[in-house]
Amino acid sequence: MAWSLYLVWGIVANYYYAVTTPPGSVLDGLAAENEGTHFQDVLMEMETFTEFPPTCKRCHLPKPERTHHCSVCKKCILKYDHHCPWIHNCVGHFNHRYFLMFLTYLTTACIYFVYMGIGPFMLMAESEENLAIWPYRMPKGLVAFSEVLACAIGLAVGGMGCWHWYLTLTAQTTLEQYNNNYIKGICKKKGDRFSNMYDFGIIGNLLDFFNIGRRGPWYTAFLPLRIPPIGNGKRFDKGGRGYVLDFGPDDEDDLV
Ligand SMILES: [Zn+2]
Ligand SMILES: [Zn+2]
Repeated sequence: MAWSLYLVWGIVANYYYAVTTPPGSVLDGLAAENEGTHFQDVLMEMETFTEFPPTCKRCHLPKPERTHHCSVCKKCILKYDHHCPWIHNCVGHFNHRYFLMFLTYLTTACIYFVYMGIGPFMLMAESEENLAIWPYRMPKGLVAFSEVLACAIGLAVGGMGCWHWYLTLTAQTTLEQYNNNYIKGICKKKGDRFSNMYDFGIIGNLLDFFNIGRRGPWYTAFLPLRIPPIGNGKRFDKGGRGYVLDFGPDDEDDLV
């Protein structure tokens, strides 16, 4: 009973947090006075002092690293992963944790349900002719329906969960993964080794993602609480040396 309630708490709380936590936008934490002030303040937060800072072509605001414009939300989202219609929200810097944990708790609950329901499900198949030997309160049809539903949701959400665990362990967003794969291909052709500059190794990435150490002990990762991530989402620590594409004239052939 305690384990089942814990799973339900994990699913409901993380879903609620994923829906209601703003993923993070460029103007977060800045006073809404005039646009000029915003521009300067965002640049200060990004620690960008170049003459031509990266700017979003659609909302004309400075574009911090890992930020992308969401055409559904019509604004730039910090550490943008994707826009998720199921939570009617973008998955970004401030709610990625809740999105991942929602997928994890839901998949775990589905596996647990399928495991616990397999006995009644098998018995249902056996006792088709003799209704008298059905010892459960739950009607047979509902057992069959729940078992099939748990299998289907477990597979679909589990696949998505595995993908997001892979991204978390390798410190990438969905978008970055596509870009990194592309650059990896170019590196391979040149005989170079690719390294993702946000990657601090599996343990380092987990500590960062779950804000362990600075905000709370390790077990806070397993508590469905509202715990914000490290940083403001406009600037990120860089562990790897990163790989900067050299678009010099010698390399043009490689890019064709
Ligand atoms: Zn934008
Ligand atoms: Zn969006």
